[in-house]
Amino acid sequence: MQDSFKRQIDYLRISITDRCSLKCIYCSPDKKPEYFKQSEILTADEIIRFVRIASKHGLMKVRLTGGEPLMRKDLLSIISGIKKIGIRDLSLTTNGLMLAEMAGALKKAGLNRVNISLDTLDPDRYFAMTQGGDIRRVWEAIEEAKKAGLNPVKLNVVPIRGINDDEVVKFASLTFDNDYHVRFIELMPAGEDRAWKKKACVKKPELIEKISELGELILLEFKGKGPSRNYRLKGAKGIIGFISPISDCFCDYCNRLRLTAQGKIRPCLFSDIEIDIKTPMRNGISDEILEKLFLSAVAVKPAGHYLDDSKPFKGIPAMSKIGG
Ligand code: SAM
Repeated sequence: MQDSFKRQIDYLRISITDRCSLKCIYCSPDKKPEYFKQSEILTADEIIRFVRIASKHGLMKVRLTGGEPLMRKDLLSIISGIKKIGIRDLSLTTNGLMLAEMAGALKKAGLNRVNISLDTLDPDRYFAMTQGGDIRRVWEAIEEAKKAGLNPVKLNVVPIRGINDDEVVKFASLTFDNDYHVRFIELMPAGEDRAWKKKACVKKPELIEKISELGELILLEFKGKGPSRNYRLKGAKGIIGFISPISDCFCDYCNRLRLTAQGKIRPCLFSDIEIDIKTPMRNGISDEILEKLFLSAVAVKPAGHYLDDSKPFKGIPAMSKIGG
């Protein structure tokens, strides 16, 4: 299925909850978070129904995110329901705190792989950046995810100047002996986060320069889709990816839509366009109309986000609300 700019749209990111067990300084609001009521977020059946409709038009990849997806009690039925539709690549982004105990069950339900957010290797700094997290739980999660076969385990790192950017080289060197994908994500202007300042964003050229002190960084073949540009340090087992919406706009290759926890299709992370599917579904619309809503979201997907310097930076709601 192609959008108006001839991009193939085959990937849906679904925020299944806005609740989170952590309050990462760049993600959750400064004040006490106000969560959606249970009745405001999509049910498992509504999520599965929407994925079934979208899969008729070439949807092949689904990622569950949030908030913290592992906090959702019916997560296993959401996963097995989506997998039964025939989605080839079903993944999940998690902070890892509850993953160690659940990894086997998630795999059994049909999950293919996980991304685990880990912004620092230092236990005290982890506690401070997440406002209360225990890094030992994350390392246990990484081990259990590998054992359960949720591979490749990808580690999401958001380098923030003056906070954790001194750890970039340490993160990259993890890939020498481990088959991880370490993905450096440029800090984006999301929510009322306290870390966002244009200068706080550590851009890809600077990251590459730092990491190159470890050896040759070999660019891997780009398969023409998605935001990550992948590299391997010479001799390393794992991969280093850069997701650089600010310094290296990937909109021409964007293949995704988002579905927010409240049931709105968001064709571009950085656009305000949202198409409500929850209200019509709860008013009893047919599959045909739901399909039209889905196709209309594909049709209005903007060409790009202009997060470069060409326009003033415009913030978006917190990632936990719209699905990071
Ligand atoms: N709770 C899960 C987790 O911690 O991974 C999933 C939700 S979290 C919003 C998903 C991803 O969004 C995380 O990897 C996080 O680092 C990233 N993220 C959140 N706010 C961001 C921001 N302002 N800029 C860049 N990435 C952000």
